[in-house]
Amino acid sequence: MPTTPTLTEDAVLDTFRRRGALLEGHFQLSSGLHSPGYLQCALVLQHPRDAEACGAALGALVRDLRVEAVLSPALGGIVIGQEVARALGVRALFAERQNGALVLRRGFSLQAAERVLVVEDVVTTGGSTRETIDVARAVGAQVVGAAAVIDRSGGVQGLDVPFFALAQVGLPAYEPARCPLCAQGTQAVKPGSRQA
Ligand code: ZN
Repeated sequence: MPTTPTLTEDAVLDTFRRRGALLEGHFQLSSGLHSPGYLQCALVLQHPRDAEACGAALGALVRDLRVEAVLSPALGGIVIGQEVARALGVRALFAERQNGALVLRRGFSLQAAERVLVVEDVVTTGGSTRETIDVARAVGAQVVGAAAVIDRSGGVQGLDVPFFALAQVGLPAYEPARCPLCAQGTQAVKPGSRQA
């Protein structure tokens, strides 16, 4: 029997620290929430061996779902989606925003009842995961699960499919109106647009 690739939560978090991907400061997340911590997954996934290891470990977690295609939201989900798809031997598609809504473009299509896994880098509120699930369902595909490298949702992602992550990270996230960092007078930065 082949050995299942495994990556412990500690090993994942060690990699994030080693790659400088755990940032501290005052951030505006893509969800709109503010947080003193940010996980810049791209700083890990820029290293192909790290990306491949994360993809293989997630692939092992979802092996029983009989996934036929991986669907990720652009941009953050693309690299890890590709690696999970590589591990599972299926194709990797991504959805991207057009006029604010996630859509399939570039000729991507899913078959009716095709078994789809939604893959993201980091899940915070679960909002973009839910949106990506809706994209697959809108064309008749069957979403059999969702997966992310990091779950920082605190377990409240509220998805109606099985959810898998390599590591849980408990970073607080605040509505801007209730953000204690804003109350201290500092400005939240968008980590994607500016290095903190
Ligand atoms: Zn704030």
